[in-house]
Amino acid sequence: MTNTTGDTTVLRGQVLDGTLGSPIADGAVVVSGERIAWVGDAARLPDAYRSPGIRVLGGPGHTVMPGLIDGHIHISFGEARSEEELALYTPVEYRAIRAVWNARKVLRAGVTSAFDAATTYNVAASVRDAIEAGMFEGPRLAVAGRQLTTHQGLEDSFPSSMQFPPGQAGVLVRSRDEIVEAIRLQVKDGVDVIKVSGSSDSAITDEPLDSAAFTAEEFQLIAQETHRLQRKCTVHARSRESVLHAARAGFDWIMHASYIDDEGIELCLKNRIGITPTLTLLANIVDSAGESAGASIIDVFKAEMDAAAENLGRAYRAGVPLVCGSESGWSLVPYGQWHAKELEIFVKLLGLTPLQAIHAATDAASRCLPRWSGRIGRLQENYLADVLLVSGDPLQDIRTLQDPQRIATVMKGGRIVDTTTPIPPRRVWPYEKHRTFLPGTFHYNRETRSGEVKP
Ligand SMILES: [Zn+2]
Repeated sequence: MTNTTGDTTVLRGQVLDGTLGSPIADGAVVVSGERIAWVGDAARLPDAYRSPGIRVLGGPGHTVMPGLIDGHIHISFGEARSEEELALYTPVEYRAIRAVWNARKVLRAGVTSAFDAATTYNVAASVRDAIEAGMFEGPRLAVAGRQLTTHQGLEDSFPSSMQFPPGQAGVLVRSRDEIVEAIRLQVKDGVDVIKVSGSSDSAITDEPLDSAAFTAEEFQLIAQETHRLQRKCTVHARSRESVLHAARAGFDWIMHASYIDDEGIELCLKNRIGITPTLTLLANIVDSAGESAGASIIDVFKAEMDAAAENLGRAYRAGVPLVCGSESGWSLVPYGQWHAKELEIFVKLLGLTPLQAIHAATDAASRCLPRWSGRIGRLQENYLADVLLVSGDPLQDIRTLQDPQRIATVMKGGRIVDTTTPIPPRRVWPYEKHRTFLPGTFHYNRETRSGEVKP
């Protein structure tokens, strides 16, 4: 029996271990040091963990589960409202400092690990390392670099008359040589994953949905070179064709895949590829209708939500693993607030059970952090003690996980995270945003003989 004095904690309640196994109604999880020492029925808790000196948390009405793994965040985006804000404004130094500050909010929300799916400059890798070195509080991170793109992919959204902005979260690759060079450079600079912009966003460009930003051969080249250098690759792929190319090339997981068809599903099953739908951003755009987004964007994203409900629900039922991701980092998905919304969407829109949704946000999502594989995402002996103690039962109401009041304890690597010291509200400096004189135009009103602002 291991030493049980000092840094041992017993968490009590319903235990969901992150797998699809049955919940333990009255369970216990023992944390010793940074690891999980024992999981099981509370009635069978070894005597060594029953001594009065041991800290006990939770009890009836509580749920113990693994910390959430968010499969899609952008820690360096600073809640940007537009491509311009992301690509052009804010010095890189401030982006990095702002990112470590935001990482703390992500952790407090119960996200103990996350995948950063594209960064401005190489900020995400430094945030990852600073957290891992213990300099700042935040989730364990696996990071991509700037996503590889073409003129038909994301990020190349500025006029051709200007240079591709260095602050953009993408790198423009114009030939096979440039593809290979970009991958080798990013691996040298410490990324965990190569991310590719395989399609555009239907709402940003007029590109037809049924196209891809790279050819099938280029997808193959990216997967080959990435795997040769022992990294994983993933892809932003909304369109049917980009999903097919990436799945056939053996990408490790696909992000979005809203328009996947039966052929794409077959390829995902054959090559054991998972999907991170990331519908929270779309849902938030739709839900914010009338506030900021234009009506045409809302219609486009509503249509994509409908397609995703049908196609991704079918993919999951066929056996394709799904992973929860929130896309936190844009203004539509501020840090620390929406990480668990995707679980609700999985249940309501894609037809998963709450237990399946929790699996998609824990054990299944661990594939996005290859270096931590086999150590995170489950409550299991010897796994790292990334644990949530929840007041309530997320199996009865999956939205429980979105309520900060219900996240009673967040534990990362056996240490309880400070969730109470207030974090000052976000302050936006003028240099972080584009300058506008008015939110609209100033119209002359003949009757009142004065001006009025119109959108
Ligand atoms: Zn993203």
